[in-house]
Amino acid sequence: MSGRLFARLDMLNSGETPSGRADMRNLGNGHSIPPSPLKLFGQAKKRINDIFKEIGEYIHESDTFMQTTHENAADLVTAEDAEKVKGFKEKVDGITEVLARDHMKVAFFGRTSNGKSTVINAMLRDKILPSGIGHTTNCFLQVEGTDSNEAVLLTEDSDKPKSINDIKQLAHALSNMKLNSNKCIRILWPKEKCRLLKEDVILVDSPGIDVSPDLDEWIDEHCLDADVFVLVANAESTLMQTEKNFFHKVSSKLSKPNIFVLQNRWDISAIEEDIDEVRKQHMERNIQFLGKELNVVKPEDAETRVFFVSAREALVSRLHEDKGTPTPTGALQEGFQVRLFEFANFERTFEECISKSAVKTKFELHTERGKNINYNLRTVMEDVHHRSINRRDEQSKIFEQKSEELDIMEKQTKLLTAEIKEKIKDMVDDVERKVACALNEEIRRLAIIVDEFDRPFQPDPFMLNDYKKALQEYCSKSLSENLQTHHSADLNKSVYAARQNIIERLSSLLNEASKAQYSSIPKRDFELTYRLDCRNLCAEFREDIEFRFSFGPTALMQRFLFPMKKQHYLAEGGSGIPRQPVVTDVSQSRDSEILVAMMTTFASVTSRTTVGAMVFMGMVAKAAGWRVIAVSGALYGLLYFYERLTWTNKAKERAFKRQYVEYSSSKLRLIVDLTSSNCSHQVKQELASTFAQLSQQVEVSKQNLQSEIKEIQKDIDQMKDIASKSKTLRNKADWLDSELNSFQLQYLQHEV
Ligand code: GDP
Repeated sequence: MSGRLFARLDMLNSGETPSGRADMRNLGNGHSIPPSPLKLFGQAKKRINDIFKEIGEYIHESDTFMQTTHENAADLVTAEDAEKVKGFKEKVDGITEVLARDHMKVAFFGRTSNGKSTVINAMLRDKILPSGIGHTTNCFLQVEGTDSNEAVLLTEDSDKPKSINDIKQLAHALSNMKLNSNKCIRILWPKEKCRLLKEDVILVDSPGIDVSPDLDEWIDEHCLDADVFVLVANAESTLMQTEKNFFHKVSSKLSKPNIFVLQNRWDISAIEEDIDEVRKQHMERNIQFLGKELNVVKPEDAETRVFFVSAREALVSRLHEDKGTPTPTGALQEGFQVRLFEFANFERTFEECISKSAVKTKFELHTERGKNINYNLRTVMEDVHHRSINRRDEQSKIFEQKSEELDIMEKQTKLLTAEIKEKIKDMVDDVERKVACALNEEIRRLAIIVDEFDRPFQPDPFMLNDYKKALQEYCSKSLSENLQTHHSADLNKSVYAARQNIIERLSSLLNEASKAQYSSIPKRDFELTYRLDCRNLCAEFREDIEFRFSFGPTALMQRFLFPMKKQHYLAEGGSGIPRQPVVTDVSQSRDSEILVAMMTTFASVTSRTTVGAMVFMGMVAKAAGWRVIAVSGALYGLLYFYERLTWTNKAKERAFKRQYVEYSSSKLRLIVDLTSSNCSHQVKQELASTFAQLSQQVEVSKQNLQSEIKEIQKDIDQMKDIASKSKTLRNKADWLDSELNSFQLQYLQHEV
């Protein structure tokens, strides 16, 4: 008997039954109870499911983020990036689905009637599977847990659950309904009734490997996802080649499968002799088979995979134990406790093995995939983060530049506005001055213009009127033309230069678009207009072309009494003294007018009285003698006749023109200020309108710049949000990776 067995017997002697030990975990009486090894799988499954749930949520969050970012900033997240993340979502959904269904699977193989069904029933502590002598199991029977209270059957050909009572009919080799040996019937057994099923273990019974022709198909369909294989051998005979062949095939398809060998029917040891020798022989052959032939376990560990049990005894004793009735005498052979213990020990070892193996096979790959998805997602988030940070920095620089530009623009606009306004004012004053000078100059040259007027002169009032009109028109035209020709060119040039200067100065504040927009506006050439209308201006002009003797008494009196230099023509309908100098100074002029009036009255009075003339003549004759008087009189008469004869049309024309020049000059002088201010107003309007147009363009440019800055700010804010969110998501990937690492460390870093 091996040391292992002695140890077990010691335990039995202490009153602890193997089955009792298996139930110890459920007592909950405050004692330290070793947890079921199967719990490892449950815990790992829960943990990995939780982690994948988190990964799923994380990917969902990332997917939403990528979609939104792609819609708002396609250069940061391309459609491919967004699709990539969506792809991860599908992968994780697939893994989560598989994980939820993952379980531990144990498959029982062996020759017909070796007791496979009995072993499963004993493990499940219930007679679930049909058993009996001969070829009892016709097809694969998979026992799995259900949350329902009712046990049902599910066949591959229908989704409709069948009654558990049909099991014999369907699966028993002796039944009339023949099922193909590689078909599988699923038995859904209430989890509440069985601990193994509760812990997610699935047990698969198979038809005897000695009767089935197609082992490859079996393996492919039922064994590739099995975590543990149990070879139920018969203690009465040695391992057969058929059994060995099957496991050779299994180990060729799976790397190092976990195989247990149950030497069943060991109750014969109670009646057989030399049983130790038999046991030793079985053990050696099994060690040879597992450790050397299959090489699925180290030879020194192979012993731990071989158990000598009696499934029948285990089943009987457990059924009675669960019912609380004593096992009838005769059902258990002598030394049954050791076999029961061996069975319980097998279960314990099996549970540890299947749990660890299932955790590794079921979750290792998923963990790796999860890590891979996490890594890829992290890379995506890292890229998005970098791109958003770069764009944020670029945009921030542009923001600063534009803000500075705007600031400069505002300051420059203020400065230029003041400067240009000042310039316009200077320009306007200058134009006013220049126009006044030009007009005065032209007034001075008016006599030449009038002289140049060449049209036959007729003193006849009707003809004279026409002549006057034509002269007025000619003067207006010539004056305007002279002003345009001699002075406007320079003025227009300086106005043009001033306008260009305004355009240049303000254009520097415009952006290219506004510049183009402004230059596309058609511009007219500026031309000063003077509006000199001599007809209106000289409408009151009345010429005086009546003959008047220069040495007449009135004329002489005026000549000697008013020798003033400055004079102007008073065209008062010929009632006054024509062509005589008159004081232009206002006060002097008023005094002179009074004197002239007095003297004229006096002269006219004296000239009309013969008495006066006689008196005057007598006085002269008395003083100079009659001869002198006669000669003087003759000379005087000759002079009179001379003047009378020379008072021709030509002389009248000259007098008319001189009077007109004097009159219109005086009138034109009166409108010098008005005309020059009118011209300056035109210039002011021209420059102010150019300035206003450009200022408006500057305002538009400013507004455009402001909205650009606003947009940039919006973009920066968006980039900040994206950067922060992508960083959070990247960190979440790190956190999930650490979760997966800790899962690996806790559940996957051990040898099975
Ligand atoms: P399977 O064909 O491998 O599933 O074998 P079964 O479980 O149907 O068992 C065949 C027969 O062997 C049944 O009559 C069982 O009662 C019997 N049997 C199973 N295990 C034992 C055992 O440990 N000892 C004895 N004496 N009989 C057993």
